[in-house]
Amino acid sequence: MTTETTTGTTTGTTADLTTDVAVVGAGPAGMLLAGDLARAGVRVAVIERRTAESPLTRAFAVHARTLELLDARGLAERALASGTTVPGLMIWNHAVIGMTDLPGRFPFMLITPQYEIERLLAGRLRDSGAELLSGHEFTGFDQDGDGVDVRVRRPDGTAATLRASYLVGADGVRSAVRAAAGIPFPGRPVARSVMLADVRLTEKPKDLLSVNGVREGFVFIVPFGDGWYRIIGRDHRNGDLPDDAPVDFEELRRLTRECYGTDFGMHDPRWMSRFHSDERQAGRYRAGRVFLVGDAAHVHSPAGGQGMNTGLQDAANLSWKLAAAVRGWARPGLLETYQSERLPVGRTVLRTSGALTRLALLRSPASRGLRDLVSAGVTRVPPLRRRVALNMLSGLGIRYAAPAGAHRWTGMRAPDVPLAGGGRLHEALRGGLFVLVTDAPAPDGWDDRVVRVAPSRPGAASLLVRPDGYIAWADEHPGPGDVERALTLWCGPARAAGLRARSPQGVSGRPA
Ligand SMILES: Cc1cc2nc3c(=O)[nH]c(=O)nc-3n(C[C@H](O)[C@H](O)[C@H](O)COP(=O)(O)OP(=O)(O)OC[C@H]3O[C@@H](n4cnc5c(N)ncnc54)[C@H](O)[C@@H]3O)c2cc1C
Repeated sequence: MTTETTTGTTTGTTADLTTDVAVVGAGPAGMLLAGDLARAGVRVAVIERRTAESPLTRAFAVHARTLELLDARGLAERALASGTTVPGLMIWNHAVIGMTDLPGRFPFMLITPQYEIERLLAGRLRDSGAELLSGHEFTGFDQDGDGVDVRVRRPDGTAATLRASYLVGADGVRSAVRAAAGIPFPGRPVARSVMLADVRLTEKPKDLLSVNGVREGFVFIVPFGDGWYRIIGRDHRNGDLPDDAPVDFEELRRLTRECYGTDFGMHDPRWMSRFHSDERQAGRYRAGRVFLVGDAAHVHSPAGGQGMNTGLQDAANLSWKLAAAVRGWARPGLLETYQSERLPVGRTVLRTSGALTRLALLRSPASRGLRDLVSAGVTRVPPLRRRVALNMLSGLGIRYAAPAGAHRWTGMRAPDVPLAGGGRLHEALRGGLFVLVTDAPAPDGWDDRVVRVAPSRPGAASLLVRPDGYIAWADEHPGPGDVERALTLWCGPARAAGLRARSPQGVSGRPA
């Protein structure tokens, strides 16, 4: 295989390419996944039909759990520097779902254009050594017991085949990988003729993401923090216009006045567009050696800003499992847990973003009155408000099923606990490996898969944390052999005894 360099991106050609994992799509989900795999030492080829950065500003909200995931890759500070933070979401012009009492380092939403997150992930992908086949289009695949033959159309129009052990479809809502795998994508349209505009406002609205829906339609206002605002609105009086119907700026101003009592002095639209959104979910996330992540697996309304966030979390869940399978230490059934863990999360996201959209679409005064009353009640009670923020928006409330008899923390997100010596757990995850936090004696032989650190508080519970930041095993008082059993179950058999544990990247805590 040969490589050539174009505009700083290493671009492969497809002659005789064999690889461990082929990823179709260099959107946010595909880039995070491929970057993780390459950093884990897995050979990965990314097939992307675009040849330039996507000019679209779709996602704008990055939630707390996604920021933790970026932090575990050393990218959170740069993500934060690219945008602004807001402390919550104001609904129906009076009720606030606040994020300020969320646990963790990121008790807010980051508002930043999707292309900023994509740039960060693209930089990491470039540095990771993954092969980016830009200008290549996926056209189909055949799989057998050992691997997948992935067919692509090269930039010059000729066909080529890549041989990979696994194939991942991160190719968005119209996923050709999903279609070729014969995976159904059932669902329905949820909102048509939704207008988008990036504008300036003379009058500053509250420093929050806000949405209000009235009889005539709904309007979302998103502050980008640099004087620009994204306005997303639907005017019911127009019925269902096609996506290419022009947006009338005066209409958007009028609708904003109807929703908020003012148009905030809206002026200078720099970009206007229209879109529709569907609610759909793949019936399966896996077909043999083929997996789906991101919009290829689920799509829903942008209300609540969950699509990119959920796709990035799918990718983080799958990457270490695929790396384990390629490197030969995945326990039986590990790859199957990608679907069993992520499909229910996707279903919940469809339900919650759909509920928010339907509440914004309510037209009868009686239903809107009830909506306003209930929302005000919920957001005034701190534990309820916290639950909504935690479970419906931030992603911090996600937990995965634990086997019977497991410690009650198993499957929960690992909090960013301090480590002996001053580091933090989420920094210790930057090596892309499991992290064993323990004071207990721990055996050698897993140093290629596990970073060992000590808790800052002597005698604290021992934890084995998965590379995606969820607790695999916990024990307050591990007995002789307990740590070894957990390591063997999750990380496969030990290598030859006597190997020394290595210090985690970026962590100053002493190895336990
Ligand atoms: C108006 C709007 C607002 C939104 N706001 C938010 C928000 O605030 N927060 C949020 O989390 N999400 C939001 N979303 C959703 C978010 O934009 C998507 O969920 C996200 O882009 C999905 O990422 P992905 O990597 O799965 O797919 P994509 O970003 O769609 O990337 C897929 C990639 O695959 C490539 N590709 C496709 N087919 C092929 C092929 N056959 N061969 C090779 N390459 C191929 C494409 O070129 C593309 O680069 C919003 C969406 C919209 C429309």
